[in-house]
Amino acid sequence: MIADAHNHLDKYAPVELATVLTDARAVGIELMVTVGMDCETSAGGIAIADAEDDVYAAVGLHPWLVQDYPDGIPIDELRALAWRPNVVAIGEIGLDFYLNKFTGLSYEDPELQRKQESAFRAQLQLARELELPVILHSKSAHETVTRMLGEEGVDSVGGCVQFFEGTPDDVARYVELGFTFTLGSSVTFPDPGGWFETVRSVPTDRLLLESDAPYLPYADKGSSQSAPDDLRLIGEAVARLRGDEPEQLFAGSVENLRRALPRIDGAR
Ligand SMILES: [Zn+2]
Repeated sequence: MIADAHNHLDKYAPVELATVLTDARAVGIELMVTVGMDCETSAGGIAIADAEDDVYAAVGLHPWLVQDYPDGIPIDELRALAWRPNVVAIGEIGLDFYLNKFTGLSYEDPELQRKQESAFRAQLQLARELELPVILHSKSAHETVTRMLGEEGVDSVGGCVQFFEGTPDDVARYVELGFTFTLGSSVTFPDPGGWFETVRSVPTDRLLLESDAPYLPYADKGSSQSAPDDLRLIGEAVARLRGDEPEQLFAGSVENLRRALPRIDGAR
């Protein structure tokens, strides 16, 4: 049993999705969270979660898309979506001060940073209001993200830091706020410096796995698309780096996800 804590199943055409889910189950994936990037993709994820017993959904507006809403983000629509029964988190939300991969915009622009922060804060408040954990996107922004989590009291709901990349100090800061870490394909690339040490610093009971499918394929996949069934290879790479038993790490990926997102088990 393995859990894919973070993917984007709405990105697959329906015919393709059937194969993707069959392949995922064939390698032992028993639980998946499909994550929204705006209202449309969040609704798409909910539709899949409603149809598939092993899929749950998260609802949110991604920091890459915030500049598309000059008159403010659609918070009422997000709230309405978040009330749907198979929604287990608010995400993916956060800050990206590095690079918008969709538009090529750099977030070194302070005006774009300000817009992202205001959208992030509104969605953190929504998460508190609905008592839902959050799924965080944080790139070159851990300091601001952890400060805002503290300011908004989000430690009461917790959640996951998606495709986590950072230092052991960042790990310690998020642990203090009650967060877990989802590790993805970045463990299959050469260490840019210090990263593998960070992977080893994540507490075993806070470690989750993600495919981020269809994005970010592992090194040498030979394809521009990833899939949830890549998770076995990614998990084995994580286990090798940490000196963990792969099957134990896979079992932990399920237990830890259920603890991080308690509504998977129906808790309100
Ligand atoms: Zn994602």
